[in-house]
Amino acid sequence: MLTYHLVTLFPESTESYLNASILKRAQEKGLITIKYYNPRDFTISAKKGAKQTYAERRVDDRPYGGGPGMVIEALPVIKAIESALKVAKGKRRILFPRKSETTKKIKIIFFSPAGKQFSNESADALKKYTDIIFVCGRYEGIDARVKKAFPMVDISVGPYVLTGGELPAMIMIDTITRRIPGVLGDSLSIEEERVASPDVYTRPEVIEYKKKKYRVPKILLSGHHAKMDQWKKGKKLKVKKL
Ligand code: SAM
Repeated sequence: MLTYHLVTLFPESTESYLNASILKRAQEKGLITIKYYNPRDFTISAKKGAKQTYAERRVDDRPYGGGPGMVIEALPVIKAIESALKVAKGKRRILFPRKSETTKKIKIIFFSPAGKQFSNESADALKKYTDIIFVCGRYEGIDARVKKAFPMVDISVGPYVLTGGELPAMIMIDTITRRIPGVLGDSLSIEEERVASPDVYTRPEVIEYKKKKYRVPKILLSGHHAKMDQWKKGKKLKVKKL
């Protein structure tokens, strides 16, 4: 069982994706679990019980050195990570470690467009962990001192800047989960372990749109598996310029 812990100010932005289709079934089968920790629950005003609405609990401040965006404060995030670590390790572990609890493998991921590029290979390495904690940034990012408090790796999901770390967390959860044995119906569903084509077809054989007929390539109707695999291997997507 792999538990994903999401440290995020916006848990609602991830819930519908993570609770549908294959990821939903993986949770139902007990292969993965998803837990949330909101830094807003760990602010000083949250502790004092000040009469503020939840959204009014302050988690960000102006950046040192100037700049337009706000920076998420270190301490609420540190405390949220600490809480995730407690759950991951299991509280009883310190005094009475269970065999399963002593074999916990925990990784903390910090998101950054400048981090190490995430890939299928990194997903294969990460699926061996029992707990992965994703620290999702927003605005101008999270105060970098969070990275000094715990060992963690900076990961990027691609050479572009997103609004927050929630999409990167979902991309990683999706990629890692589909590679866990038992998640996909057939292990051959993992693309790199079989002959897969970027272009795929289903019934009917012929479709008509605006008086034009579009057919399935004949080779795919031949029933000749070796030839069909050869066709799929040779199929290169013709990418047009944007
Ligand atoms: N100021 C930051 C910089 O220059 O690197 C970017 C902040 S970005 C608007 C807000 C957050 O989204 C980041 O802290 C990070 O958590 C996440 N993020 C944005 N793009 C990302 C990417 N390509 N890969 C991983 N995380 C990303």
